[in-house]
Amino acid sequence: APSVCAPLPVLGRDVTVPLVTGGEVTYAALDYAASAPALQRVWDDVAAYAPYYGSVHRGAGYLSQLSTDLFENARRTVAEFLDCRGGDQVVFTRSTTDSLNLLAAALPAGCQVFVFETEHHAALLPWRDARVTVLDAPRGPRQAVETLERALAERDPHGPALVCVTGASNVTGELWPVRELAAAAHAQGARIVLDAAQLAPHHPVSVKDLDVDWVAFSGHKLYAPFGTGVLAGRADWLRAAEPYLAGGGASRKVTRRTDGGVDVQWHDSAARHEAGSPNVIGAYAVASACKALTEAGFDTLVAREQYLVAKVREGLADVPQVRFLSLFGDDAPRVGVLSFVVEGWNSSHFAAALSAEYGIGVRDGLFCAHPLVRTLLGSDPQTQGECGAPEAAPGEKSLNAIRVSFGAGTPDEHVERFVRAVK
Ligand code: PMP
Repeated sequence: APSVCAPLPVLGRDVTVPLVTGGEVTYAALDYAASAPALQRVWDDVAAYAPYYGSVHRGAGYLSQLSTDLFENARRTVAEFLDCRGGDQVVFTRSTTDSLNLLAAALPAGCQVFVFETEHHAALLPWRDARVTVLDAPRGPRQAVETLERALAERDPHGPALVCVTGASNVTGELWPVRELAAAAHAQGARIVLDAAQLAPHHPVSVKDLDVDWVAFSGHKLYAPFGTGVLAGRADWLRAAEPYLAGGGASRKVTRRTDGGVDVQWHDSAARHEAGSPNVIGAYAVASACKALTEAGFDTLVAREQYLVAKVREGLADVPQVRFLSLFGDDAPRVGVLSFVVEGWNSSHFAAALSAEYGIGVRDGLFCAHPLVRTLLGSDPQTQGECGAPEAAPGEKSLNAIRVSFGAGTPDEHVERFVRAVK
């Protein structure tokens, strides 16, 4: 399709891997939902900066000043990328998991949390100290909003409440009605955090437009390296909370008390939750990825990805053994993330064969979303697989699924090879 743009250059595009059938082939990385390859542009930016890096917020030297500027500019770039409100904070974390755990640690006393059972464990599990209401998997966007509205209507209207919702499912790739869910949350005086781990690499995310209170995402899924995540959004709860980590950088003033203890005044800025020497390279890489995606243009990136999604769907439409997993229906809008089972096949063997015989890297398993995969496969909680447990034997009902996912760096050939291999 001539109107579809070329893939963006990514690292690893020339890596070859051996095949069990003999010879070798270029590796087809089709597990972007787990970790996307870094953009060449991000790598080049980091390499250009690396000889100059110095301590952040801690040194008088020129390179320390330079690094501090780059770190703080990275914060501004991320705020622009997410179209944050004035006054929002951007906290650099390690990952989406870290970001959501930070928010969980910053919840006001007595906060009620509402979360769908369909969430990734990073969004389902951090709310251990709160009163958590887990909502049933909805079968469509409308039902999602109604389910939330019903649950919120029954909540204690006087206490604080938080809704945590994903923007795009890491299992089905389906887009969730974030704006409508945010409106439903706010109508009942609740706040909402968007898990954009799968959304941000594929779609523009506007905090203002979606009217969400916080957004979390991971650098390693956004074409930057591992080790950096973001929590961006309203400052008040973050400012009122105890620091996520206690230490240097988070503290403004520390004094010895006469009784022998210490008094601490913590920063009110994002630094409050960033104690210790920050990962300036990671923050810089995330900012570089944000710029690269913005410059490439999400219109173009989305068009290319939808073209690849259609290639998979159409390419496998005449293979009746392939069953795609979906909560909202086969035609629901989705990002380049598709999970499926192949009737009569053990999903783990199938994924292993794609690797060994075709050099294709997909993922098999439960995708850190056990309740969702259980619902989609209709499996019994008692017999459902666990992480690392053996899959069903060939011919038995599958306990796991296979996930293929792609993005801005995926060439047509990878998806075409995948379709050929599955067939
Ligand atoms: N949320 C979703 C929807 C995800 O797909 C993932 C990663 N698979 C996470 C959260 C957690 O991201 P990380 O592992 O980078 O913390």
